Amino acid sequence: MSARILSGKEAASALLGELTLKVKTLDPKLVVVQVGDNPASESYIKQKMKNSQEIGMRAEHRHLPKESELSVLMALIEELNSDADVSGFIVQLPLPDHLSAHVPQVIRAIDPKKDVDGFTAYNLGKMFLSKEFEHLPPATPAGVIALLEYYDIPIRGQNVTVVGHSNLVGKPLSTMFLNRDATVTTCHIHTKDLASHTKTADILCVAVGKPGLITAKMVKPGAVVVDIGITRTDEGLKGDVDFDAVKEVASAITPVPGGIGPMTVASLMRNCVRAKERQLEL
Ligand code: NAP
Repeated sequence: MSARILSGKEAASALLGELTLKVKTLDPKLVVVQVGDNPASESYIKQKMKNSQEIGMRAEHRHLPKESELSVLMALIEELNSDADVSGFIVQLPLPDHLSAHVPQVIRAIDPKKDVDGFTAYNLGKMFLSKEFEHLPPATPAGVIALLEYYDIPIRGQNVTVVGHSNLVGKPLSTMFLNRDATVTTCHIHTKDLASHTKTADILCVAVGKPGLITAKMVKPGAVVVDIGITRTDEGLKGDVDFDAVKEVASAITPVPGGIGPMTVASLMRNCVRAKERQLEL
């Protein structure tokens, strides 16, 4: 039997709908900082500006030239940190090559109260305390959880395998599952016999960036499969999961595109609303 398709477009539209009223009341403002012209970034930023517009949220795109010095970017971050009208901002990654080694320094400069990407050590660290402290979680893991919640997929007590252990996706996602009482296995490039871990998963999440990494044989019949990977190929965007084969084994599966991508952007919008809420409380 073919799996249920977990549409990120549908779930994101519901999440954005819920935010509209709050946006009207709180009037938050998002700023997206871009350095250079990475084509993938262009399309992600377009989507962020579009979603902001749809929910009536003020959004500004600050675009610095590719050759900008680190000092110029740091000065802009400082300006945004101290502008009380800016509720949240992100620095779109990747940065151009000459700045890529400075990403930790750039993230460290962002005021955690405005860190709507959830990338600062403060916001990541808070997540380890409990679910209640996931105030500004990274947008992609938060999008995965929101998608499962939208489709009423239980997490507590489930065996969850997360493939990929990056600081921005795999690790925080594993933490969010643990905060919801799942039994979590996190896999990465050094994992021995990856299939032995994916095959036991009730919920399998994959965030690697290698199309076709997960085949039907690696999936437990009836599992829920969440494909976070996005790779640009000549045939379009590809996830990490062999979608056509795995959908015949899984009970539910996310497509690429139209799965976690829209949920990531919707979660970013939600973080910006939360940031403004918290700033008003303070
Ligand atoms: P990343 O930093 O490159 O992390 C990839 C992870 O996969 C690393 O932990 C890596 O381990 C692990 N890995 C590599 N090859 C593996 C293998 N053969 N078996 C098991 N694990 C392996 O990437 P990321 O930022 O987490 O992103 C992962 C994917 O998600 C990418 O395709 C990215 O485009 C996509 N993504 C999608 C969204 C969205 O909105 N849908 C958002 C963010 C990211 P090592 O570190 O040990 O090499």
